[in-house]
Amino acid sequence: MKRKKMLLSNETMNIGFVDKVEALSGTSVRRCFQCGKCSAGCPMASFMEHPPNRVVRLLQLGQWERILAGRSIWYCASCETCATRCPNKVNLAAIMDALRKLSWDADGPSKESFVQLANRLFIDNIRTYGRQYEMRLGAVFNVKSGQFMKDLLLGPKLLSRGKLKMFHSKNRNISEIENIFSRIETMRNKGEAP
Ligand code: SF4
Ligand code: SF4
Repeated sequence: MKRKKMLLSNETMNIGFVDKVEALSGTSVRRCFQCGKCSAGCPMASFMEHPPNRVVRLLQLGQWERILAGRSIWYCASCETCATRCPNKVNLAAIMDALRKLSWDADGPSKESFVQLANRLFIDNIRTYGRQYEMRLGAVFNVKSGQFMKDLLLGPKLLSRGKLKMFHSKNRNISEIENIFSRIETMRNKGEAP
């Protein structure tokens, strides 16, 4: 049976979402012609349910919800190998960044929502203490993710080797760190930052 050719139209693509990704990433989703060179060089492709070239293909086919609900965007290590290898100058690393941002903003269901949770707690610690507080990060993560026993045996070992601290003081320059967060928020409100 002869296969029917699929034409990419604005409707097929869900142009509103593709426009957002292209604006945030500064690169073209439409330009990808599916050569697969990005996925062939991606060190994380084997962990992803959709390798990098398929992420772009799904975008082209308007299947963005499948990407945001999956784990591929969270397993991307931002190494930029894909962008370097692309013969068509598609900056796939920037597309992955944009997709993570859109997933973060949507706060939608994600198979890797634990990654989002860890990211949120990480930022929250930086904002509260002006530095990372691993003990708190691990404890709050376990409670919020419902995995109360996760890495429980690792904690005492890390504590005994001085790799973890039970208590943390705040960074004395915390007001400067708060200023950075405030500036980013102001820029976002003005549409000057993603
Ligand atoms: S290397 Fe570039 S053109 Fe080829 S599949 Fe990847 S993004 Fe598309
Ligand atoms: S930037 Fe992400 S998608 Fe691109 S090669 Fe690196 S890990 Fe893979």
